[in-house]
Amino acid sequence: MSHGNATYRIWLELLSEKPVYSTHEHHMESHKQQQLNLDRLFNQSYVGWCKPAPANDRDLRAAWLDGIRTNTYFSWLQKALCRIYDVDEITADNWDDLSVRISAAHRNPDWHLDVMKEHGGYAGFLEDCYWDSGSDVGYPEFVTPIYRLDMWMMGFHAESLTNEGTSAHALFAQPPSFEAYMERFEEELRGRRGRIVGLKCASAYQRTIGFQAASREEAANVFGKHPSETTQAERNAFGDYVLARGLELAEALELPVQFHTGLAQLSGSSPMLMEPLIAAHPRNRFVLFHGGFPWIYETAALAHNYGNVVIDINWLPLISTSAAIHALNTYIDVLRDNGSIAWGGDTWTGEEGVGASMAFRHILAKALSERVEDGSWTAKDAERFADKIMFENTLRIYGLESKRSLFVYE
Ligand SMILES: [Zn+2]
Repeated sequence: MSHGNATYRIWLELLSEKPVYSTHEHHMESHKQQQLNLDRLFNQSYVGWCKPAPANDRDLRAAWLDGIRTNTYFSWLQKALCRIYDVDEITADNWDDLSVRISAAHRNPDWHLDVMKEHGGYAGFLEDCYWDSGSDVGYPEFVTPIYRLDMWMMGFHAESLTNEGTSAHALFAQPPSFEAYMERFEEELRGRRGRIVGLKCASAYQRTIGFQAASREEAANVFGKHPSETTQAERNAFGDYVLARGLELAEALELPVQFHTGLAQLSGSSPMLMEPLIAAHPRNRFVLFHGGFPWIYETAALAHNYGNVVIDINWLPLISTSAAIHALNTYIDVLRDNGSIAWGGDTWTGEEGVGASMAFRHILAKALSERVEDGSWTAKDAERFADKIMFENTLRIYGLESKRSLFVYE
């Protein structure tokens, strides 16, 4: 074992003693977690997203595993399953046996959270429950909701849905006027303030995040038109107006706003497209998700120039572990304040959440051990930064300091 590798091991061990508080999960309710087996775990994760698990056939499974084994979504989910269910690797031969054991474990309705606590070191997380926005999925002590803006930004017509098929019109018994719609939007945000700690915008899956200024008149003119009778420019103007109103409310209510940047629709999701909006709203806190991958330097540049940007590397260690190490190092270099960076898992199941936490601890141990090893940081600097990115920053940014007392650690 080389000296560098030994330092990495020491840091990984030290980090494994610390809790994480995730900024972003799509964690499913208990009754859905209880349906899981190995096939469903794959298909309910990014693994199945890139390549659905094959039919129940030994040769198909062997070929599928051979092809996906090097992908980082797969490798971290596999590492998590190995840790939780005590196997060495997943093969076509142990597939069924492991699958039965996963199902059996989930007879305990809290297994999904138990594994996150025990094997992932989670002390809590922020939930983006896009199918029932604002929900804590039944675990108010452990889960704190974020509220989605998308169904409001897309809601110029009842048939205009978000990427996930949701609509703000579900809240109205009668089709609302534009004025009633905007009033209700404000009431929802104000009324939910006690329970939610942030807002989220996932527009990048449906349109450009090059948000523009739009007038109330422009938005009112689109409202009520059937989607088929609108242009993309009109739909964007409506969303732009609702977002601008959302940002005013977020400022008044002191809610950070999380934005999906990168991937999604590749053209139109570069974080650089958000520069005018970030510059125009210096008192809003813009949380740029996923490091903007693949535009990790663009995110770094925005954080370098704007004090109201928070970099959130959730999902990034799973997308590309090597890119995440490089990106984290770049962010550490350029951030004006190392209080403006956070992490989340961005997963649906407890098992995948464990993998996400392992991936994060790995990239953090890599970056920190190298900095200590080459003398650029003291061990004290490194540990201080670890505490910040693992939980402290998130608790401060989202006003969750009271949760600190829940931490076993310290
Ligand atoms: Zn997500």
